[in-house]
Amino acid sequence: MAIQWFPGHMAKARRQVTEKLKYIDIVFELVDARLPMSSRNPMIDEIVSMKPRIVLLNKADMADEKVTNEWIAYFKQKDIPALAIDSQTGTGLKQIITLSKVILREKFDRLAAKGVKPRAIRALIIGIPNVGKSTLINRLANKNIAKTGNRPGVTTAQQWVKVGKELELLDTPGILWPKFEDQLVGLKLATTGAIKDTILNLQEITVYALKFLKENYPERLKERYGIEQFDDEDIVPLFDEIGKKRGCLMSGGYIDYDKTSELVLRELRSEKLGRLTFETPADFHKEE
Ligand code: GDP
Repeated sequence: MAIQWFPGHMAKARRQVTEKLKYIDIVFELVDARLPMSSRNPMIDEIVSMKPRIVLLNKADMADEKVTNEWIAYFKQKDIPALAIDSQTGTGLKQIITLSKVILREKFDRLAAKGVKPRAIRALIIGIPNVGKSTLINRLANKNIAKTGNRPGVTTAQQWVKVGKELELLDTPGILWPKFEDQLVGLKLATTGAIKDTILNLQEITVYALKFLKENYPERLKERYGIEQFDDEDIVPLFDEIGKKRGCLMSGGYIDYDKTSELVLRELRSEKLGRLTFETPADFHKEE
């Protein structure tokens, strides 16, 4: 993450989002489908409590489909509608408008009854850095960002992006911070590449990733790296075997752990290990 977050920045980000909420009907909360909890802002429920919301599980193309469906059910149970989308190709985006219309039908009917002319639904995209906010805005707007300028009744200059006739987005998304203080959250975000590797130790991230893969997707490791057997206790033998098999060695034949780490993370992030999800609703039911 290029942005440095300090308490002052967090408060400012929150203020900026709260300010934008005034102008919109609905919030599209973007999370990463591979880690839907860790890629959320810890205070999001409180921050957007006054507005209807749809959780968009973005990058669903890279996530484990079965777990994505579990997450959709999890949010539904909490009365938050959720959709799986892929902002890069546009998969699932049509449902966003359809669902928004359903959620806002009553409000718009009420406005119509008062004689207010029908208008497009106004929405704000919110999410932590790198979750895909700009990609989604560009995709929805067909890369054709048409700024529509000031709206009557909107005092501060807000720029809107038209999405067909039925939807308008604020052109700058709301950016909020993830749950930094939780080390596991940091490791998951770093594994998926949401946080720059330089912030956390490369080998530490890889140790987390390999442990996770060993426990949850061992067959992927077997397939990709030809691993026959796993050591129950220790992760180093697995690290060593991958390094050796892929020729990540230093002089003297020692394993180059940095090089092995870079290789594993690069392959994981480019789906060479298949579609992966790093947390399930069951992990959080335990906590709750
Ligand atoms: P922002 O910081 O939230 O605006 O995130 P960006 O829109 O810049 O996206 C961060 C990275 O995620 C970019 O490399 C995008 O190409 C990628 N990305 C965004 N959405 C998707 C998606 O649905 N699927 C995949 N595979 N990649 C995505």
